[in-house]
Amino acid sequence: MNFLLAFLLFLAVGFAAAWTAERARRQRTEAAHLREIDEQRTHREIELRAQTERTVALFDRMIEGLIVIDAGGRIRLANRAAGELFGFPSPAIGRTILEATRHHEVAALATRLDREPEILGHELRLEAVENSKFLQVNALALRDEAGGRDGAILVFHDLTQLRQLESVRQEFVANVSHELRTPLSLIKSATETLLDGGKEDAAALTRFLQIIEKHANRLTLLIDDLLMLSTLDSGNMRLNLQPVSVRAGVSEVISDLKSRASLRGAVVENLVAAPLIADADPDRLRQVLSNLIENAVKYGRLEGRVTVSARVLETGRIEVAVCDDGPGISDEACARIFERFYRADKARSREQGGTGLGLSIVKHVVQAHGGEVRVESKLGSGSTFFFTLGTAKA
Ligand code: ADP
Repeated sequence: MNFLLAFLLFLAVGFAAAWTAERARRQRTEAAHLREIDEQRTHREIELRAQTERTVALFDRMIEGLIVIDAGGRIRLANRAAGELFGFPSPAIGRTILEATRHHEVAALATRLDREPEILGHELRLEAVENSKFLQVNALALRDEAGGRDGAILVFHDLTQLRQLESVRQEFVANVSHELRTPLSLIKSATETLLDGGKEDAAALTRFLQIIEKHANRLTLLIDDLLMLSTLDSGNMRLNLQPVSVRAGVSEVISDLKSRASLRGAVVENLVAAPLIADADPDRLRQVLSNLIENAVKYGRLEGRVTVSARVLETGRIEVAVCDDGPGISDEACARIFERFYRADKARSREQGGTGLGLSIVKHVVQAHGGEVRVESKLGSGSTFFFTLGTAKA
């Protein structure tokens, strides 16, 4: 009996020990499993965060403004470009689209997406005190898996620069047409007069032929200048850079303009020191000097004095100055004088056969050399045009 009891006790103890060991083993396995799940979750969270950061960084690199709203019209995501377009700080999350953009038309577009699946190519103008902006909006309503509304994505393209370019182009075409039409109509009416019998009178014949020649020359100059500007604009102008003596370049131009200067009784002086050697394209440098010196003679006073001087700036660059003692240029005109077709004195420019393109060509050519151009002038006290060039390496 005792033996049986001892045996049962032995079995019970053995079973209890085995059960405890099994439970400990299970607990260990479960703990390891939980640890694994926990690690996986942490890993997934890190992955998700990194992925979100990558997406946000990608959105922030977009040129277009992007706003994602939820079904309640609140911002879920807005990239940097959107913040810049509408002037809201980058974390606009949680604000309504109206609060963030402060534009009712944008908010109205978001509301339209409740009824329409998408809006394509909607143009809107953001009025501002200084520069208005032109935007094109493309937007898409989002749906969740059950097909319910889940907010929308709005993408904003800034068309402001494009619009500005368009208006510059339109203005340019209008100006060119106007500039072409004036000499053409003068040539046409002189020809008609001759055909109507004017050619019988020898003096009239000469006068009208001179008119035709003058305006044909003006057309040639205009077309030459337009072609030059188009080459400069296209970036196809190849500069043949080489060491050029500034003094020699100025002398050459002064001698070319001698008869023009003597017609106005003007004296043109070359004050440039001989050792100044610029790194420039000699033909283009001549073109710049010719435009500036010719203007100084044309618009300077009768029997005036024009000087050309040059110095080396602290930066090591050479600054050339063309100075006249003419009527000068108003501050308002100085600010616009390098624009295409801008003329401070329209009548004077036309009378002198000017195209209104000379100074914009000067600016482009100097900039192509890496230099700068500017004017200093006061009404009644003459004008000085400055431009800079690099110094040739010894
Ligand atoms: P344009 O063919 O009319 O001479 P430019 O571009 O060379 O064209 O010059 C633009 C305008 O600047 C001229 O029409 C003239 O009114 C003004 N201008 C240029 N140089 C001078 C100057 N030295 N003094 C006064 N006005 C000048």
